[in-house]
Amino acid sequence: MTTLINPTTGAALREVPSASLDDTDTAIERAQEAFVSWRALAPGERARLLRSFAAIVDAHNEELARLEVENSGHTIGNARWEAGNVRDCLNYYSAAPERLFGRQIPVAGGVDVTFREPLGVVGIIVPWNFPMPIAGWGFAPALAAGNTVVLKPAEITPLTAMRIAELAIEAGIPQGVFTVLPGQGSVVGQRFVSHPLVRKVCFTGSTEVGKQIMAGCADQVKRVTLELGGKSANVVFADADIAKAAATAPYAVFDNAGQDCCARSRILVERSAYDEFVGRLETAVQQMKVVDPSLDESEMGPMVSARQRDAVQGYIDGATIAFQGTSPGGDGFWLPPTVVESKATDEPVWREEVFGPVVAVMAFDDEEQAVALANDTEYGLSGSIYTRDLGRALRVSRAIESGNLSVNSHSSVRYWTPFGGFKQSGLGRELGPDAPNAFTEEKNVFFSDD
Ligand code: NAD
Repeated sequence: MTTLINPTTGAALREVPSASLDDTDTAIERAQEAFVSWRALAPGERARLLRSFAAIVDAHNEELARLEVENSGHTIGNARWEAGNVRDCLNYYSAAPERLFGRQIPVAGGVDVTFREPLGVVGIIVPWNFPMPIAGWGFAPALAAGNTVVLKPAEITPLTAMRIAELAIEAGIPQGVFTVLPGQGSVVGQRFVSHPLVRKVCFTGSTEVGKQIMAGCADQVKRVTLELGGKSANVVFADADIAKAAATAPYAVFDNAGQDCCARSRILVERSAYDEFVGRLETAVQQMKVVDPSLDESEMGPMVSARQRDAVQGYIDGATIAFQGTSPGGDGFWLPPTVVESKATDEPVWREEVFGPVVAVMAFDDEEQAVALANDTEYGLSGSIYTRDLGRALRVSRAIESGNLSVNSHSSVRYWTPFGGFKQSGLGRELGPDAPNAFTEEKNVFFSDD
């Protein structure tokens, strides 16, 4: 049993049973049985079931969003978007079953055709920071490509995934096709890695655990996708719209209380614009509405857990704070948005993924130094570039070693564009038009015309 805590109040929410090793094995075996008929379903029928699934998730948007506010402390505005994102992923990938094209390749003496064969059972391991979207980015394309799915939510945030699994059954998705198994990473998650019937593991979480998963998967040459940590840079050149860059920077790092792998937790500002930017940033940070996440006006809620709050507090205590926003008191896991001016790149707050509402700001002198500083990290997930110079935007966006960049904006994840990391931020890509292919093996068959 895991006791779930409401992060906004610190009060116990409810108990959730943890799946055992036997429960996990049984679910994997059922998923394998269900795979036989799910893959054989007519493409149009699989598509129709995924659209029904999307419709029922949509009809329960408010219920799912309220559940996430209680379980994870997400703002209600974010949580509604997150449930909507699951619906959108299902709808987008519901178009895939009839479009899972192979190729016909010219050969002598016959016909050569490729097929996209589903893998079988796919194991999806989800972290606590975005329980709904990260689950959907895995299960929607995996199901569309004809696989069955076993999914393990994070120990402390299982409620929305459990509810989505019930909704799948209501939508007509056959038993065993999509199973959610709340439980420990070291039990359920580890079994996805070691069980031979699980043919692919999609892991989102810390780089440390991701490396263990990758090493474990090597034993069976198991397919693996990793979406790991980040330490993304927001690079602001002096020619940019400084007012816009400063007004939007807090949302690029403090959204979801900074518990976002794409958080732009380092801000690099060209020296001639530094003072103006930091002055405007202070105004923007102090205006952020850090209040009860169940209120429509809330822009930032609490940390997900006391443990996460304490870990982030450690970074704040070890840094020289420039200024902070506000946060409520009480027994919830609150921290104020915090801005640190970094003087050296070896400061932990500059170098490590804080995963909380803390941003470090540093000045740079020219484009070359900006790129070098942005790339001076083992991570490479996201980032932003603010400039009005088109040539510079092109040069810098090509030079930064990162999977997802935005110029003059902070957008990072759209379900119809590819998402994933360079370097130690991950392996493989999720989302976008090609995601279903990542849940298939390409098979080549030559038919002789003899
Ligand atoms: P975590 O690595 O501790 O846990 C992630 C998931 O893995 C959980 O479900 C956990 O139960 C499971 N797990 C833990 N140990 C396991 C093991 N030995 N075998 C199998 N499964 C195991 O990470 P977290 O603290 O939940 O999440 C925060 C981290 O996730 C941050 O580092 C963040 O950057 C990263 N993250 C990355 C992305 C991305 O897309 N790149 C998205 C969200 C979060």
